[in-house]
Amino acid sequence: MPSVDATRTFADRLDRVRAAMADHGVDVALLSVGADLPWLTGYRAMPLERLTMLVVPADAAATMFVPRLEVPRVVPRGEVFDVVGWDETADPVSLVAAEVGAARTVAIGDQTWARFLVDLLAALPGASWRRASTVLGPLRAVKDEAEVEGLRRAADAVDRIAAELQAGAIPLIGRTEAEVSSDLARRIVAEGHEHTNFAIVAAGSNAASPHHHPSDRVIQVGEVVLCDFGGTYPLDDTGVGYCSDITRCVYTGEPPVEFAELYGVLQHAQSSAVQAATVGTPAADVDAVARGLIDAGGYEGLFIHRLGHGIGVEEHEDPYLVDGNDDPLVAGNAFSIEPGIYVEGRWGARIEDIVVATADGPLSLNRADHGLAVVEA
Ligand code: ZN
Ligand code: ZN
Ligand code: ZN
Repeated sequence: MPSVDATRTFADRLDRVRAAMADHGVDVALLSVGADLPWLTGYRAMPLERLTMLVVPADAAATMFVPRLEVPRVVPRGEVFDVVGWDETADPVSLVAAEVGAARTVAIGDQTWARFLVDLLAALPGASWRRASTVLGPLRAVKDEAEVEGLRRAADAVDRIAAELQAGAIPLIGRTEAEVSSDLARRIVAEGHEHTNFAIVAAGSNAASPHHHPSDRVIQVGEVVLCDFGGTYPLDDTGVGYCSDITRCVYTGEPPVEFAELYGVLQHAQSSAVQAATVGTPAADVDAVARGLIDAGGYEGLFIHRLGHGIGVEEHEDPYLVDGNDDPLVAGNAFSIEPGIYVEGRWGARIEDIVVATADGPLSLNRADHGLAVVEA
C-alpha cells in the first residue's frame, strides 16, 4: 500500500526538482533507468529495451510512460505523477516527444540508453540537451533525515561484518579470494541488505589494485587482505534502497614493520580527512588533507584515486571529493572517505568510511575499528 508519508516525500522532491529546473532554465526533464526515477517516484524500472520514462515539465503534471506489461509494478501516486501504459506495438518515443511538445531545453537522465536518446534527438530536432545530473545531482546529494537513517542502517550492517572479519570469524587463510568474496556477499544479505553490490577481496600484491576482481588466488599466511564491500539496504517507507560501502584491511599474522608504518600513515590520513569534512569546506580540500599526509609520510604518488564519492540510492553519486571540485560541502552531504596507498607488485591498503556532513561536524556512519587487525585463521 502506498504510504501517505512516502507520497509527500516524493511530491516534495518533485517540487524541488521543478525549482532547480527553473534555476537551470530547463523546460522538461526526461528520466529513465537509473536512480533519479526511484528517488522521485519510488519506481525502479527494469533495464529493458522497452522504454520507461518519466516526463517532468517545469509547469505541468508529470507523466510516467511505462510498457503496459510493467504497469502492475508501479505503485500509483496520483498526486505526484500520472501513469500511461504503452502497448507492445506502440512507439513510446513519439508518445514522449508529443508530451515534450515545444519545450526547448531538455534534461535527460545520465543513464538513459543511447538507443532512446538517439531516437529522441531525431524526434525533437529543435531541443537543446542537458544531463539531468546537473539538475538532480545537487538535490540528491543532500540527504534528508530518513535517507541518513537508511545510510546508517546500511553502515551498521556492514560494520557488523567488518567486526567479524577483524575478529577472525570469517576464515581467510587457505581460502581463495573468490570464496571469501562470496562469503561476504552472503553475509551482506544476511545482515538485511536486499542485495550485494560488490565484495572486493584482494590479498597480498593484489591489494595494490584498488578495484581488484576476486580471483582463485589462495590466501596465505603473512599477507594483507583488503576487503571492500557493500550492498543496498531497503528503506521501508519509500521502497527505495540506500547503499553501504566499507573497506577494512586485516593481516594474516604479524605484519612486518614496513607495512605497519604504511598503515599508520594511512590511518592518520583517513581520520584527518574525516575531521576535515566540515560544512563549508571545498570537497577538493578534504582530498588534499589525506593526500598531503600520505605524500609527506613517504608515499608520494601512491594514492592513485580520488578521496571519495557521494553515496545514497547509488554507490557513486554527487558530491565527489576530488581535486578540482571546489564546491563546498553542505549539511546532509553523504560521501565516502577512502584514501589508499598502493605499492605495485607488493601490497596495498585502503580504509573507507561513509561520512555525513552535519552542522555539528562530520559524522562517521561506519564505526568498525580502523586499526590493522591481525588474524590467525
Ligand atoms: Zn571504488
Ligand atoms: Zn568501497
Ligand atoms: Zn567507496
